[in-house]
Amino acid sequence: MNLKDQTAIVTGGSRGIGRAICIKLASLGANIVTCYARGAEAADETVKACEDYGVKSLADQAYVSKAEDVDRLFEEGKKLTGSVEILVNNAGITRDNLIIRLTDEDFEQVMNTNLKGSFYAMRAAAKLMMRKRYGRIVNLSSIVGIYGNAGQVNYAASKAGVIGMTRSFARELGSRGITCNAVAPGFIRTDMTDILPEETKAELAKQIPLGRIGTPEDVANAVAFLVSEEAAYITAQVIEVSGGMM
Ligand code: NAP
Repeated sequence: MNLKDQTAIVTGGSRGIGRAICIKLASLGANIVTCYARGAEAADETVKACEDYGVKSLADQAYVSKAEDVDRLFEEGKKLTGSVEILVNNAGITRDNLIIRLTDEDFEQVMNTNLKGSFYAMRAAAKLMMRKRYGRIVNLSSIVGIYGNAGQVNYAASKAGVIGMTRSFARELGSRGITCNAVAPGFIRTDMTDILPEETKAELAKQIPLGRIGTPEDVANAVAFLVSEEAAYITAQVIEVSGGMM
């Protein structure tokens, strides 16, 4: 797989899965533009790790829940190499609670970041990619968006919404040479899952046929394939990267 001379926007690249995706795509030759909410130093580390592969890279503080921030990120991407060929909507948050305790704010924050944030970036990407008649978009959903999970009504709704947007975008823009797919990770070891108690993690690991918790790199490898030339005939799909969980 070769992504040389392409520019990828990967949201939320300061840590976890987003960082692994940035580094993987950089290792394949893509220039990387990423963003973060608060983790400026961590995002700089991602940029340095990408630059080690000889590509251009930058990180901006951009809240994906704000359309103007997302549009600015695409302007930065265009400055780097003139266009943006790859978008990975990775930035995401959880605000878990049982539904009777779930506040309006918990619901809105999760929808604004996970769902609206992906929409803003897909809209900005579509304008550039349609002109170029080429593009690769991968949206991070979750197995929770497919199967549901107690205590995650808001998160599941946002991630199910991401699947609906992915399949609709793929149908709308397939004729313009743009593919759009979703990756649905299972249980991956990152800050997002580190907050779970050890017993819960051990219990979840037992439900995984491949017998281990996933790594950010497991997810990044699937994303790298989907944004490559080799995945040219794959669109509107949801790929579970879950070790067979669920
Ligand atoms: P993480 O470790 O919590 O990292 C989240 C990343 O998103 C950070 O870079 C964070 O930046 C950024 N971010 C959060 N809110 C943002 C905002 N409003 N604007 C811009 N950036 C923002 O998460 P992760 O586990 O790597 O998850 C990455 C994606 O995979 C998410 O969409 C998540 O829902 C999905 N996923 C994860 C798992 C899992 O088991 N970990 C499973 C299924 C799906 P800061 O560092 O600045 O906060």
